[in-house]
Amino acid sequence: MAVTAMFAGAAFAAPPKVITTTEDLAALVREVGGDKVTVEALAKGYQDPHFVEPKPSFIIKLHDADLLVVVGRELEIGWLPPLLTQSRNAKIQPGAPGYLDASAGVRILEIPTGQITRAMGDVHPSGNPHYWLDPDNGRVIAKSLVAALTRIAPGDRATFEQRYADFDRRLAEAQKRWTAAMAPFKGAKVVTYHRSWPNFTERFGLDVIGYVEPKPGIPPSPSHTIDLISEMKQQQVKLILVEPYFDAKTPKSVASQVGAQVVVLAPSVGGAKDVTDYIQLFEYDINLLVNALKSAGTK
Ligand SMILES: [Zn+2]
Repeated sequence: MAVTAMFAGAAFAAPPKVITTTEDLAALVREVGGDKVTVEALAKGYQDPHFVEPKPSFIIKLHDADLLVVVGRELEIGWLPPLLTQSRNAKIQPGAPGYLDASAGVRILEIPTGQITRAMGDVHPSGNPHYWLDPDNGRVIAKSLVAALTRIAPGDRATFEQRYADFDRRLAEAQKRWTAAMAPFKGAKVVTYHRSWPNFTERFGLDVIGYVEPKPGIPPSPSHTIDLISEMKQQQVKLILVEPYFDAKTPKSVASQVGAQVVVLAPSVGGAKDVTDYIQLFEYDINLLVNALKSAGTK
C-alpha cells in the first residue's frame, strides 16, 4: 500500500522552493523544513542587507519560488520591491499565501515616535529591522515558518512541527549557555558601528552608548567621530562592535585613540566562515565577545 501511494505521486514531485532575502531566514527554513523543501537566500550574510545589488538571477529565483520569506520592517525596501514585481509570480506577492513577513509577532525595538524626516538618516518607521539577533525572536520566526511551510506542503505538517520542537529544544539549551557566559559582563558599555545590535545587546545585557555612524546609514563624519572619542574616554568604553561589511578605518582609529578594541561580529549566518546555521551565529558572536570583554577587563 505504501509503495502504491509513493508511486501515485507526492514522493516524486520536486520539493517546494523557498526563497529568503537573508541567510538567517534561510537557516531557519532549513531547521524547520529539513529536506522537505529547498531554500536559497538572495543576500549573502557578509553583505549589508540594506543595500544588496539586485541581479537578474534574483528575478528568476523569485519567479520559480513557492514561498518568499522576508525580514520586513523595510530592511529590503531599497532593493526587493522592483525584483518582486519583475518576477511576475503572483504566489509570492505581499498578501499572497506564498509571502511571509518574518517580523510578525517578534519583539521589535526602536519604533520611532513622532514624525520621521530625511535628516534623521535611514530610520525605519516600523522599528529596527535587525530583530533576528535575539534568539527569542528566532524562535518566533521558526514558529511562523511551520505555518508558512505547511501552506506550501500541507502533507509535511507533522515533520515541520517535529523539527520545530527539536530546534526549540536545542536553542533553549544553547540560550542557557550564552546567558551564563555573558552574565559576568552585564552592563558592559560598547559602541557599535550601525544600529544592528539593539535586540542582541538587550538580550545579553550590554549597554550601547554610541555609534560610529552619526545617523543610521550615514558614514562617519569628523565632527561626530570627535564627539564619540570624548564620550568613549569619559565612559571608559573598551569595545567597538563592527559589522564585516563596513570600512574598519574609523573604528580602528577611534579604538587606538581611546584604548579600545574593535570586534568584528557576524550580524548574520554566513557573516563569517564558521557561521553556517542560526545557533552557530550566536555561538560565534558570544565567544568573540566573551574573549574581548575578558581581555578588556570589563566588569
Ligand atoms: Zn539597519
